[in-house]
Order: sequence, then structure tokens, then C-alpha cells
Amino acid sequence: MTASPHVVVIGAGTLGICTALNLVEQGASVTVLEAQSIASGSSGRSVGVVGSQFTDPFEIMLRVHSLRRFREWESQGLGFNHIGYLRLARTSAQMELFAKSVEIQGEAGLRSRLYRADELKGLVPHIDPRGLEGGLFGPDNGFLDPHEMCNFVAGIVREKGGAIRQYRKLLGVKRRPGGYMLETNGDPVDCDVVVNAAGAWAPRVAELLGQRLHIWPERHEAVVIHLDEPIGYTMPMVMDLVNGEGTGLNFRHEKPGELIAEIHKVEAVAPEDPDNYNDQCEERSKVDLAELLLERVPDLPGARLGRGWAGLYPVTADHRPFVGPIDASEPTLVTAAGAGGYGIQLAPVIGQIAADWVLHGGPVSAPGTERLSPSAERNVPRSPGH
Ligand SMILES: Cc1cc2nc3c(=O)[nH]c(=O)nc-3n(C[C@H](O)[C@H](O)[C@H](O)COP(=O)(O)OP(=O)(O)OC[C@H]3O[C@@H](n4cnc5c(N)ncnc54)[C@H](O)[C@@H]3O)c2cc1C
Repeated sequence: MTASPHVVVIGAGTLGICTALNLVEQGASVTVLEAQSIASGSSGRSVGVVGSQFTDPFEIMLRVHSLRRFREWESQGLGFNHIGYLRLARTSAQMELFAKSVEIQGEAGLRSRLYRADELKGLVPHIDPRGLEGGLFGPDNGFLDPHEMCNFVAGIVREKGGAIRQYRKLLGVKRRPGGYMLETNGDPVDCDVVVNAAGAWAPRVAELLGQRLHIWPERHEAVVIHLDEPIGYTMPMVMDLVNGEGTGLNFRHEKPGELIAEIHKVEAVAPEDPDNYNDQCEERSKVDLAELLLERVPDLPGARLGRGWAGLYPVTADHRPFVGPIDASEPTLVTAAGAGGYGIQLAPVIGQIAADWVLHGGPVSAPGTERLSPSAERNVPRSPGH
């Protein structure tokens, strides 16, 4: 490969744009091909939460890298709403894990603390703490507008010489010695390396590249909640899952008098077709969501369900993203996809690792993340309902 390879990134969602940024920063020549417009896929349909309230040290370590980048972008003008992130616990076992998380986060320089059930009203005056043991709260976490994030990072990519070609879909791939000729709906594009960052479409792009990739497009729904009047404090992001994972809901401040909630269901559903799925929130889900919301925050003033929508989580069998080559013998085809419900908050670190694979043959700037490669053990079909 040349010292400054021409890398084509497929997809201008958070993962593709962040990969492009890390590549141009290191001197690579980069073209992003996007079938539609920037952030038109899952990224633009997310609720934009960035948090670090996890109990697994590896998950926290990934977010330490990401948060460093978010802070840098914030200092350069990206909007980031530090509303805080409260993860609720229903058992003492969960609280013990949360206590460990406080330690791990503290060692990594992230602020977080435990709240007992009887202290939760100090954070969220409307909360009904019945059935809860307490919560883990990170005051610096928050949310951003994923469209704004993609366009902000795309601006830096362009400033540094990268090209982003929208409405340019990858249709086919021809191999040439040492590289690829990409067929698109416009001119063909010649390159040395391809990064597949096509989100829920990544398996289709992989097929064009002669590869097999197991990513399950899983539908998720979100709804706006209008209140009669502002609640007088900023609702943090509240993650309220029944068993610590799986079913439940989350909700957060959007603007005064408005919240956004997302419902989490675990159902044996089939994978969705990313070109043809119901992108609206179903009435049944709105009813389920209202019930859960009323249970947790019963007296929100005049709460009414507003506009809803659905989008896709690109999910892998082990719920961790794929970052790296599928086939070690073809290191010029790199995958950066499958971030599930965390592709906004993990995009900076995924972009960093993907660029490392392209330019250095491994994740040199984030040691220990080789395990995110789509190895034969990880790149397997997911069973329905998991
Ligand atoms: C309701 C909802 C709420 C969410 N909330 C959060 C949250 O709070 N925090 C969080 O971190 N994550 C959240 N997520 C998850 C997050 O949105 C995704 O993980 C993330 O957006 C995936 O980004 P991506 O770049 O992999 O995919 P995408 O954003 O889908 O980008 C892939 C792009 O590839 C393009 N493409 C496809 N095929 C081709 C082709 N052949 N040629 C060229 N381009 C192609 C597509 O047009 C698309 O723009 C949420 C998701 C949903 C649905």
C-alpha cells in the first residue's frame, strides 16, 4: 500500500464520518460515499445520548476514548447538553456493580456517584422510587443532536481535504491488483482500501465486497412527550430497565416542556429490511411506553404523547461492534459497523480504531480493542429474541 492510501468509507453515519476524520487527520486521502445524505440512516433517528454509566470495565474504557473526543469537539463548537445520566437499579446486586463502576470511572477521571432510592427525588423530583434500590448518576453525561454531530465532523473532514459524496451509492466492486474499483450510481471510484461503515446495510455492502457479515437490523421506537408546563428542573437521561437490561424505557429532557422517551422491548422479531421497514412508532408501543412512564414519573404535568418514530439498531450476536478486517488475509477491507444502541457515543472510538486498522494494521491507539474485530467466532448469526 502507498504511504498515503486512498481510502473509501461507505456510509456517512456517525461511524463512517468519525472513521473518515481519524483517517484524514493521519494524512490518508479519504472519500466517503453515502447512498443518501449525511446522517440519513440510523444516526439521524437516534436520541443522541452519550453516557458512561456502565459496569463492564471494557465498555467504560471505550467511552473514555469517545468522551475525550466529544470534549474536544465541544470546545470547537459542537452542542452537547450535559443533563446527566441516571441508571436505575432494582436489586442490591445491581447496586454493587454500580459501586464498582463509580470506582472504575473515577480511576479514568470520570465523575459518577451512587444514589440510594430515598435520595433519587433530589435528582428527579417527579420520580416514584418504589421497587428501586437506587441509581448510578454521571453528571457530565448528556445528549447531542446526531445530525449536528455528523455535519460538524463532516465539516472538519472537508477542511482537512477529505471528500464526502452524498447520493452516491456503492453498487458493485471490482478487484484490481492492490486495490478496488468501486461501481457507483455515478463515476466509478478507484481506491486502495474500503471501510464498510454502512450500519444496518453493512451486510449488503459486505456481500458486494465478497464477504459475509452478520448484523441484525433491529427496530427501536422513540416518542416525544409534551408537558403542559416546564417541570422546573432539567430531567437527566433516566435509564429504567426492568432487569438491568432488556425491557423498559429511557427518557430525558429535550427542551423546556418536552421530553423524549425510548421504549426497549425484547421480542423474537425478525431482522428488518433497512430499505423497507415501518419507521413510525406503533400505537401499541405508545400505550406500553405511557404505562411504564406513568409508573416511574406519575405526576408529570399534563404529559401527552407526541410524534413518534422508529429506527434501526445494527446489532451483532454479542452486542459489541465490529471494528477491523473480517479476513486477516485481506487487511484492505475493514469493517466499522454493528454498534447497536450505542453508535453515537461509541462512534469516536470506533472511528479511531477503524483508522488504526487501515493505517497501522491494528488498534495501536486503543490497546485491547483487537477483540472488536469481526473474527470467525464473533461474526456469527444472532438467534431471534436475543
Ligand atoms: C430510536 C433510536 C435511538 C437511539 N439512541 C441512541 C443513543 O441515545 N445513543 C447512542 O449512542 N446510539 C443510539 N442509537 C443507535 C445509533 O443510532 C446507531 O448505533 C448508529 O447511528 C449507527 O451508526 P452507523 O454509522 O453505523 O449507521 P447509519 O447511521 O445507518 O449510517 C450508515 C449509512 O450507510 C449508508 N449506506 C448504506 N448502503 C450504502 C451503499 N451501498 N453505498 C453508500 N452508502 C450506503 C446509509 O445510507 C447510511 O447513511 C439509537 C438508535 C435508534 C434507532
